[in-house]
Amino acid sequence: MPEFTYEFTASEVVPEFLVGEVQSKLAYVDEDINKATVSPTGDRITLHLRLSPDKQRLAELEEKTQRVVLSMVKGAYKPKVQVLEDHLDRPIPYNLDPHIELAARGEISQETQGVFALGPLVSRLINYFERRFLELADSFEAAPYRFPTLIPARYLERVKYFQAFPHSLTFATHLREDLDAIDHFAQNAACQHDGALTVPLDTFSPIQTLLSPAVCYHLYFALADQSLPQGKVVATAVGNCFRYESINLSSLERLWNFTMREVIFIGEKEFVLENREIARQRMSGVFEEIGLAYRVESANDPFFIGEFRKQAAFQSAFQLKFEIRARLPFKDSTLAVGSYNYHQDFFGRHLNMTLPDGSPAHTGCVAFGLERMAYAFLAQYGFDPRDWPAAFKEVGL
Ligand code: ATP
Ligand code: ZN
Ligand code: MG
Repeated sequence: MPEFTYEFTASEVVPEFLVGEVQSKLAYVDEDINKATVSPTGDRITLHLRLSPDKQRLAELEEKTQRVVLSMVKGAYKPKVQVLEDHLDRPIPYNLDPHIELAARGEISQETQGVFALGPLVSRLINYFERRFLELADSFEAAPYRFPTLIPARYLERVKYFQAFPHSLTFATHLREDLDAIDHFAQNAACQHDGALTVPLDTFSPIQTLLSPAVCYHLYFALADQSLPQGKVVATAVGNCFRYESINLSSLERLWNFTMREVIFIGEKEFVLENREIARQRMSGVFEEIGLAYRVESANDPFFIGEFRKQAAFQSAFQLKFEIRARLPFKDSTLAVGSYNYHQDFFGRHLNMTLPDGSPAHTGCVAFGLERMAYAFLAQYGFDPRDWPAAFKEVGL
């Protein structure tokens, strides 16, 4: 498809530490944007557009883009990045893009943008990492839970998710209980070229349910409006998570539908913070055995444009999030394969989940992205099991 590029000067210079965040948010500015880049100097923006727009449309696109830049950049200050562990220089034998080999071997097959079926090699690797994560959960005697893939809108509303991450939501609906609507659908439903169903929107029931964006929320809701009798909970669960990341979706690095294993801590502030730290130390030993090149550093969540500056600064200031960033040698960058999170008493307050003394419970979670874990490992160690660390003998390849 022919592409049209449009370049202009940013209304505020985007500082280096925000270039990635701003760029990823520009994906949501307009459907006609295929790709958006901010120059390394932060002063020029290039939009790659689907169509060749007229002057008025270009002015509109530029205005919307400038709004994002202004709201994210004005008054932003550089967060102090705190590095808790640095093993980025661990020697690793591979430096090619695993996506190419994965596709060539039929190990990944793309169903649609950001949605992949995974073959036996990736599945065995994921099972192996799962066993290691379950060992971590067992070391805390975490109680196992199973949560649904769907999550009620009411739940997400209560924890302000719609304000924090509206851009990445995925909605679930069904046909209305109406014989004519169902009949009409059965007779006429067909996909257009782009795969979209040709169905009038009023055929669908109003949205009450979404696809879950995280695992631990389900536990907080199960314990909402209660006092925790023991004053603490440690639990673990794995689940499908959905985050629509638009044009940022890419290979196994950034999926629409991915899987997360979490170990979740609920209790007093000290209980949550201490266990988050113990989990990090235990995982440090596991990552050493696995031979992963990575570092653990402070981070923030990818909040939506308007919320970004305030919320991200808050997370940084209170050290609420640390990411395990694995090295991707083929592109000389890093990718978050997991995170150590502390939510303070946010969920305790909003969900009325209390400790025996009546105060709101604090929560935290350790979350691993299973597809990313396998992807980062293959990016560092390649496809020949003879090159893999001894710990992988039990994978059985
Ligand atoms: P990123 O910084 O890459 O956007 P995140 O900060 O949103 O990720 P968390 O909310 O901390 O991620 O989720 C825990 C883990 O889940 C991440 O460390 C990552 O391994 C995985 N994960 C998150 N989003 C995706 C995605 N779109 N595709 C695949 N894995 C993901
Ligand atoms: Zn969590
Ligand atoms: Mg992140």
